Amino acid sequence: MKKSYIKKIEKSIQLAKQNNFFDHLYRIYDGIGQGTCTGCTKCCMESVHTHYIEFLNIVGYLKKNNALCKELFPRIIKYYFLELVTKERCPFLNEQGLCLIYDVRPLVCRVFGHWTKEEYKQNYKNTLNENIHIKKVFKNHYKIHLPKEVVEYRIPYCESFQVDQRIETHQRQSMTDAIFTMESRFFMGGLLEESDLNTGLVSWFVNLILDKEKASELRIQIMKEYLENQNSETLDEIITKSYNA
Ligand code: SF4
Ligand code: SF4
Repeated sequence: MKKSYIKKIEKSIQLAKQNNFFDHLYRIYDGIGQGTCTGCTKCCMESVHTHYIEFLNIVGYLKKNNALCKELFPRIIKYYFLELVTKERCPFLNEQGLCLIYDVRPLVCRVFGHWTKEEYKQNYKNTLNENIHIKKVFKNHYKIHLPKEVVEYRIPYCESFQVDQRIETHQRQSMTDAIFTMESRFFMGGLLEESDLNTGLVSWFVNLILDKEKASELRIQIMKEYLENQNSETLDEIITKSYNA
């Protein structure tokens, strides 16, 4: 873990507390209609987009639960290194199909069942285009061929979620805007950069658990090992170390 990064997180949490950002975040979450969900977990198949304030909220939750961190960190590490070569479920989902951070899960997870078919289709289209771009980059720069089943993976549309009051697109946009307003304070304080804007839940944590530069170098090696052998000894070593950290 980088001390400077941890300091940045601590400063950010302090700023959030001084400005009641966490209370504000829960008020936003409270505006989402609680529906009936079958808990099939079909939507828990990726590292979901997470706003910085949401990440800080999750860090605060995990700080109080060392045992949960110990359980989660090896899963997060595994997901980060293999996410582009094999389709894995969200590392925050346990074997019993329960979200280990359910009380503090990000906005994206809370609104998934609210999507209309059109919104769902558009989202898949965007994700697919992004993945095709990543596939090209990996092929041209690293001679790595990302598997089709990962690049084209499609989370099925949720037909089962039942809710009295569905969240409309403009309401979701207002929620995102309210979160951005809070985040602008971190930008102004030099605690957040533009490149952080599209960060997924796993990446936020990888920056916290591992050295970012070393991790991205190792990622290429591990991906190649995995694609060749369906296994990576380098990754096994990192995971073993993380259990003892
Ligand atoms: S929101 Fe839909 S897809 Fe996700 S767990 Fe609930 S029922 Fe399954
Ligand atoms: S954070 Fe929780 S609810 Fe969201 S995708 Fe992961 S397991 Fe599912």
